[in-house]
Parts: sequence; C-alpha cells; structure tokens
Amino acid sequence: KMFPDLADPGAVPITSVTNGVHAPTWVAPVFQTIYEQNIGENWHEIVRNDETWQTAIELMADEDIWNAHRTLKSLLIAFIRERTRAKETGSVNTINERENTQGLFSPDILTIGFARRVAAYKRWDLLFSDLPRLLRLVDDAERPVQFVFAGKAHPQDRTAKTILQELMSINHDSNWQRRAVFVEDYDQEVARYLVQGVDVWMNVPRRPMEASGTSGMKAAMNGALNFSILDGWWIEGYNGVNGFAIGDLNEDLTEDQMDIADAEALYSTLENDLIPAYYSLDPNGLPSDWIARMKNSIATLTPQFSSDRMVADYLANIYDND
Ligand SMILES: *Cc1c(COP(=O)(O)O)cnc(C)c1O
Repeated sequence: KMFPDLADPGAVPITSVTNGVHAPTWVAPVFQTIYEQNIGENWHEIVRNDETWQTAIELMADEDIWNAHRTLKSLLIAFIRERTRAKETGSVNTINERENTQGLFSPDILTIGFARRVAAYKRWDLLFSDLPRLLRLVDDAERPVQFVFAGKAHPQDRTAKTILQELMSINHDSNWQRRAVFVEDYDQEVARYLVQGVDVWMNVPRRPMEASGTSGMKAAMNGALNFSILDGWWIEGYNGVNGFAIGDLNEDLTEDQMDIADAEALYSTLENDLIPAYYSLDPNGLPSDWIARMKNSIATLTPQFSSDRMVADYLANIYDND
C-alpha cells in the first residue's frame, strides 16, 4: 500500500524482518544464573529452540523467578533513590532532586516503567489525560501503583519539558511525589535498570506508528509484563496471557478519537485486569497467577524476539534470496 505506483502489489520485492534484542546483553545476571542452573550453561543457545526453552522455563520454580525479580526491583529502587538524591554543590543538578530519598518508592508496590525517545507518536500524555483517575490508582490504600519514567529532558524537546513540569507540579496531597519519578538522561545504563527491575513495561504509541519497539522485548526477557498498544512487535508477541493489551485494532477512528479510546482502555485495563492480577496472592503469599504470566512471557517472547531469531530470518529471507 505504501508503493501504489507499482502495478502489482504482490510483485513488490519488499518484505519485513521483525527486530530482536541480544538476550545475553539484556537478561540480568541473576536471571542468567538461574537459567544456567536450571537450563544449562548454554541457555542462550537453547533459546533458539522455542519448544525446549518453553518447557524448561515452565518447569522452573515460581520462587526462583519471583526472588530474582524481587532482587532486580530492589536494585532499581536503590538506583532511583541514588539518582534523585540532592547532590553536593557543584555537581549536576537534576530536575527532581530531593533531600531525603528513603521514602521514595516501595518494593511492595506495583511498579510501571515508561521510557521514551523524542517522538510525538509515543504519546507521553495519554497516561495524564485524566489526572484524578490516575491519582486514585497511585493513592489506592490497598493496591497502589508507582511509576518510573525516563527520557531525555532535551532543551529542544518541548513536549518532554512540558511533561516534566506537569510531573513535578502534581499536587502534594497525593502520594505522587514519592510514587513517581522521572529519571533523566535515558541511556543504556538507565534502560538496563528499568527493563530489569519494573513489574510492568508500558508503551502507548499511536497505531500504526511503532515500527517495532525493542525496549518491551528487553523487559519481557527479564520477567516484566508488557502493557502495550497492539502495534509494532507487541501485535506479534501478545498471546492473551504473556502481558496485557491496551485497546483494540479498530482502524476507523480519527487520531483524536483513537487517543480518547486508548486512554480509556489504558485506565480500565489497569483498574480491572492488571492491578487486581498483580495483587492477588495465593495461600503461600505468592502472586502465583502473576508469576505464571511472567513465566509465559519469558517462555514465549525470549525466543521470538531474540536477535538470534532475527539474524536467522535475515539469512533465510533476505541475504540468501537468489
Ligand atoms: C532499547 C532502547 C531504546 C529503544 O526503545 P524502543 O522501545 O524501541 O523505542 C531507546 N533508548 C534506549 C536507551 C534503549 O535502551
């Protein structure tokens, strides 16, 4: 459809290869260790065989997965506190420095990560479209939510600056100031802490603008559940249990209508599906349904979105095509 001048669309020699990420680079050391113990030293080769990998992951103990995740979440929280601590005079100022960061973030609260490059289609503002509804989730006495955002507060990036100002100015009667944080200078170090430590990775691009998206793949390999618009890689990866979908595939809406529908879907999926699933514990005090989803996510998405699969696709479908 993008090349209407070419007479026969079927004859257009254009195809696609879905991106992937390098598992040994993005899978956290604690997960690599339990993969080595349960699957073998060569886990990153076994990942090339979907079925062997999936069986091995499903056989792993829930406690192993959950403990590894809890460790990574603690590391993320320590990183967030360190990054936002008020610095000695003379060092770089950060936009949300605080005197005391000990009360910032809790390991027991559902933690959602959202990081973006400078691009309007990523729709930073969707989450903030109904602020009272968002703050009700953050302030909930039994089942609160906390958010870690990351991006580049680039001087030329007006949207990012506006969002930052909005984030910082949200009212002090709520728990927002200790349950939401913006980490500046999003780079691979920040990305590593985020994708490895959050419970949920959120992505809300405007369809069909997300060519692929790769940060969600990194998160999935570390047991975070994706919570995303069905676009780019997620429309290929989502199977109904390995994460959460925001909205549907309706193509008949204008941009404005789509933004409104997706914001509604974002809130209602959080309220009705995601938050209740996270906080439901079994008699042993473990969120076993959530862990089952984590295992399904690691089992299905790691092989499908590893760069090994991607390179194999290039070899089979692109390079070797005479
Ligand atoms: C992975 C990554 C990206 C790309 O994320 P997308 O989801 O593909 O937009 C951007 N920046 C950093 C630092 C990353 O690690």
